[in-house]
Formats: sequence, structure tokens, C-alpha cells
Amino acid sequence: MDLATEFQQRVMAKRPELIALTQDLIRIPTLNPPGENYRDICEYLSKRLACSGFETELIRAFDTPGDCEKYPRWNVIARREGARPGQCVHFNSHIDVVEIGKDWTFDPFGGELKDGKIYGRGACDMKGGLATSIIAVEAFLEVWPDFDGAIEISGTADEETGGFGGVAYLAEQGYFSPERVQHVIIPEPLNKDRVCLGHRGVFWAEIETYGRIAHGSMPFLGDCAVRHMGAVMAEMETSLFPALAQKRTEMPVVPEGAKQSTMNINSLHGGQAEPADDFTGLPSPVVPDRAKMIIDRRFLVEENIEDVESEIRAVLEKVKSERPDFGYDMREIHRVIPTMTDRNAPVVTTVSKAIETVLGKPAQYVVSPGTYDQKHIDRIGRMKNCIAYGPGILDLAHQPDEYIEVSDMLDSAKVMGLALAELLMGPSPQN
Ligand SMILES: [Zn+2]
Repeated sequence: MDLATEFQQRVMAKRPELIALTQDLIRIPTLNPPGENYRDICEYLSKRLACSGFETELIRAFDTPGDCEKYPRWNVIARREGARPGQCVHFNSHIDVVEIGKDWTFDPFGGELKDGKIYGRGACDMKGGLATSIIAVEAFLEVWPDFDGAIEISGTADEETGGFGGVAYLAEQGYFSPERVQHVIIPEPLNKDRVCLGHRGVFWAEIETYGRIAHGSMPFLGDCAVRHMGAVMAEMETSLFPALAQKRTEMPVVPEGAKQSTMNINSLHGGQAEPADDFTGLPSPVVPDRAKMIIDRRFLVEENIEDVESEIRAVLEKVKSERPDFGYDMREIHRVIPTMTDRNAPVVTTVSKAIETVLGKPAQYVVSPGTYDQKHIDRIGRMKNCIAYGPGILDLAHQPDEYIEVSDMLDSAKVMGLALAELLMGPSPQN
């Protein structure tokens, strides 16, 4: 039997172990916000990987957003050196999960196995992917114990809230740099037959319109900031949204609707604050002097962020030219530049080939509509050879009754291990 076949059999034999590991990870509730139990899950991972011969390090991202004594931002990085120097392949998973939400029929932190699926918050995004990469590496080590190069596995904080206390921090500290790591695979749930090359860009801004406060019975003595905002929204409907729909991309973004520029109006506030639920009085009659809107504009690799910003500013300037008293401000609150790894990058071609070997069909190339930690690996870590590849159905992420299929994890573990063998030792060890 060749080693590639033996490896795949070893993965199949680890089915019970893979299930138990995934369940253990789900049962540590790492809700973010606020960032609970990061230390516990890092210690669990550290112990597990130390048993497989890894040197492990727990790293707290001091003073990053959210870091405090009650909710410290812990990360774990494990590294195992091979028999000879060579390249390093890194599997990076985030340890945090989003809030539970309503409508669960399973215990969100129970990790229940039913009909070949494991249920729980984070099952798919992305504790299943994390467990898959660990099982892949452990099976790999049984078949290729004296491999070349190095393997790293990390569990990192805060991806769901921007990754500043996780991958961004570690990249700043040099843990993701071309000198230390050559190939990065992020096991986010993009489906077992897809290689995710990157993501669209983000431009978040707050738009504020100004008016003048007055008595509500004499609005002509004031100036209504909410009506000004209404004019902004009308202009957006007339000119901006249709223009965005025309901007199509060559990026293979999924789903289809995201293959263009998009913008969401994230929130809108004008006038008096909402009263508390137990307040029984009436509002006071006041002309609002301020209205605020937060926009979430997602842009394409073909666009640049300066144009994205000036396009929105043009809407505001147009409204200004038509309304004599119109005053506004626009403040950027967050930006992410789009990233897309080259299709000929070694990690892309190698994982694609492994997908074809395991699943018997060509890999699909996709780009994510939203961002993930690849942005920090690219911008701060200066590493272009990075993809997301992992089991699970993306649509299930953040949903009630989130689950991961055990058979998908096993397939993905085979892909990861075969890709690992080829990245570290070239095509021959598989044959
Ligand atoms: Zn995720």
C-alpha cells in the first residue's frame, strides 16, 4: 500500500477521536463578545498538541480591544520541527464563537452527535475545522514521522470581532511572517471541495447630518436633520445603489449576489433616543438637530478605497447642492483592503490537487463575501501564500442548530494531510 492510501486509512480510523475532539471544543463556550474561556480552550489545545510532540506557547494579546483581566485575549501557537529544515505549513483557526441566538433545538454547547452530524455553536465556524486540522496532522505524523520542515497549528482569539487580539496581534509579533511560515491554511467552513482565495474589502463609515433644534410645533424655526438624512437616502436609492449593482467583479465571490459591490445601511438614528421599555410618558416635541447613519460598503479587488469613499462623498455633495442648509460629516470607522491569493500560489495548487485526489473532482475556487483573518496575514504578516480551506457549510455559520458533518471533516482531513505531505516534501511521498 502506498503512503497516501495508508494516510487516508489512518484518518478514517480516527473517526471516534475526531468526534470526541470536536465535542470537547464545542463544550468550552468561547462566546465573543465578551471573549469567554479563551484561556481554557488554549490550555486544552496546548495539552493535546504537546502529546503529539509540539512545542506550545500561550500568548496573551495585552491591551488589544476587549482585553482585560476578566476577559484576557489568549492565543495558542504550537510548532513541531521535522527531521530536516524546510518550509513551514501553518493551520490557523479562530477559537471564538458568536452569540447563540434563539430557536435552537439542540444544546448549543452540548456537542451532540446525531445522524453523523455534530451540533453546537461553533461546530461549523470553526471548531470542526480546527479539530479536522489537528486530526489531519496527527495522522500525518504517524505515516511521515521524519518529515521535512515544520508544522504549526494555532488557535486564535477574536476573529469574529476583527481579529485584533488574535491573528493581527500575532502577525505584529512576527508569528506570521515569511521568515517563519511559508504556507497558511485557515480551516474556515468554505465546504470541503472549495479553495477560498480571499475576500472583498470593507469600508465602514458614519454619516451625520446636521440641523437646528426648535420646538416641534414650529419646525420652520428649526432645521430637521432627519429630513436631510432622508434626502441622502433618496439620493442613494437613485444613484448609488444602481451604480453599485453595475460593478461586477472577476473575483469568484460566492454567493452569486456578492459578485458585485454592495452596501448595507447598518443603522440609522435621528432625534430623541428610544425611551426605556418601562417609560410610559410621551416624547417631547423637538426638531432633531442630528441624524446618524452607519454604512457598510463591501468593495472589489478592482476598486480602490479612495474611489469608494469619494463615490459616497459625491452623493452627499449632490444633496448639499440641492438643499441650502444641508450640513454633513462623514467619518471612516473601519477599513479592510480586499485580498486574493494568486491561483498559482503553491498552497492553492497543492490543496486543489489534494481535493481532486480525495474527492475525485476538481476544486472550486471561491472568494468570501465577508472578511476573515487572512486580511491580517496578508497586510501585517506580508504573506500572500494563504487560503481558507475547511469542512462545513458556510451558510450554517452563526445560525441556530449549527452543525458539522463528520464525513465532511474526514474528507477534509485527508485533503489537509495530503496537501501537507506535498508542501513539505514534494509530490513523491504520496506515491
Ligand atoms: Zn469563522
